[in-house]
Amino acid sequence: MRFPALEAHNLQEMPYTCAQCSFCQVGNGACPTYKVKRRDSYSGKGKMILTRNLLQGRLKPSLGLEGLRDAIFGCTLCGGCEEICQVDIPFVKIYQLLRNDFLKRGMWPEELAVARDTLLKTNNIQGQSQMDRIEGWSYWHPDEDMVLDLEGKESKTALFAGCASSYKGVSIQGTIASTLIYDKAGADFTILGEQEYCCGAPMIMTGDFETAKKFAMHNIEKYNELGVERIVTNCPGCYKMWAHEYHEFLDIDHGFEILYGAEYLLELLNKDKLEFNTPLDLTVTYHDGCDAGRNAGFYEEPRKVLEHLPGVTFEELPHNKGNSFCCGSGGVLRAIDNDFAVKINDLKVEDIEATNASVVASHCPSCVDFMHNQLPGAGSSKVSKDLVVLVAQAMGFEWEGLEEIY
Ligand code: SF4
Ligand code: SF4
Repeated sequence: MRFPALEAHNLQEMPYTCAQCSFCQVGNGACPTYKVKRRDSYSGKGKMILTRNLLQGRLKPSLGLEGLRDAIFGCTLCGGCEEICQVDIPFVKIYQLLRNDFLKRGMWPEELAVARDTLLKTNNIQGQSQMDRIEGWSYWHPDEDMVLDLEGKESKTALFAGCASSYKGVSIQGTIASTLIYDKAGADFTILGEQEYCCGAPMIMTGDFETAKKFAMHNIEKYNELGVERIVTNCPGCYKMWAHEYHEFLDIDHGFEILYGAEYLLELLNKDKLEFNTPLDLTVTYHDGCDAGRNAGFYEEPRKVLEHLPGVTFEELPHNKGNSFCCGSGGVLRAIDNDFAVKINDLKVEDIEATNASVVASHCPSCVDFMHNQLPGAGSSKVSKDLVVLVAQAMGFEWEGLEEIY
C-alpha cells in the first residue's frame, strides 16, 4: 500500500532504513510512550517496521493499519526517537505526514474532529471567546491600559501569545510577565489581541494541513497590516510553526524573523535592558520542553537567562537537554488520550522529585500548565513556573493573579 503524504515529501524510503537496534526504545531519555505502553508499535522502531511491512504489502491493511494509526496518534511528537536514532530518521515529520495520510483515509481519531470543529468555530483551541484572548489576562495585569493600547498597534515587533498563553490560568502568567518586561525594557511592540487566531499547530501536528493554512494566513495578513517584521513567541509549539512548519507543510514563506521568547530575553539582557532588584532565593531546575529543546535546539538560551537571575541556585534534572523526559502534553496527546499523557507525566514528576529544586522552570506554556496540574496530584510540593515569570519576579514585578494561581 501507499502513503501519499510520505511520498510527496520524498520520505517513503525512510522506514526501510531502520536498523532495528532498539536504541529508540531503551536509550537514555528515549520514547515515553513505549515506556508506558511497553508495545513495540509505540516506539519509533515499531512504527517503522509496521509502515515498511504495509508499504511492501507483507501485512494486509486490515491487519496492520489500525494498530499503526493508534501508535501514530498515541505519540507526543517529543523527538526522543529522532534524537537517538543511529540512521537519522526524521520521525517527527514522518509522524505528521502519516497523520495526514490517516486523515485522508478517514481514519482520524474522533477527538481530533471535535478539536477541529472547536477551532473553526472559535479560532482558538480552548473554544473560548476571542474577546477573552486579551481580556482574560489583561484583567490581572497591573497596567491594563498599557495592554489595551498594545492591541493592533503598528510596530515592527510583535508578541505572539498563542492559545495556551492567552487563556490558561498558569500560562497567562507568562504573557503578563512578558508584556511587563518588554515595556520596562523600552521595547516597542504590538499584540494582535482579539485578532490573534490559533497558529494552527494542533492541526499541523495532527496532519490537517489544509485547516492549519487558514489560521496561518489570517495571522500573517494581520501582521502585514501592522508593518510587523519580527515575531516573538514564548510558546515553542507556536515558534516551530512560524519558524519551520508553515514552510515545510503549508508551503508558506512569510518573511518574518521568528524569535523564541528566551532568545529575545537574552537579546534584552545583552543590551543591558533588564535590571534585577529582587533576589529570588530559590533552587530551580529546568525542564526542556520537547518543541523548545530536541525539536528546535534551544538548550542554552533559557539556562543563560536563569544565570542572570539573582538568588537562583540551578540544578539540572537527571534527564536534561537532549535526554529530557517529555511532560506528556505534546503532539495533542492530551486531547486524544489524557490518561495516557498523565502516565507519561508521572515519569517526568519522578525526575523532578529527584532534585532539590522547589521550582521547575520551563519556557513552554503547555508544559508549565501540565506540570502545574500534575505535580500536586503526584504528591509533589514543587511548583512549575515559566522562565519569563521568574525574570519578571527578579525585576520586582508583582501582580494579583500570580499570587492567586500559586
Ligand atoms: S516522538 Fe517521542 S513519543 Fe513519539 S515515538 Fe518518538 S520518542 Fe516516542
Ligand atoms: S534507533 Fe533508529 S535504527 Fe534503531 S531501532 Fe530505532 S528507528 Fe531503528
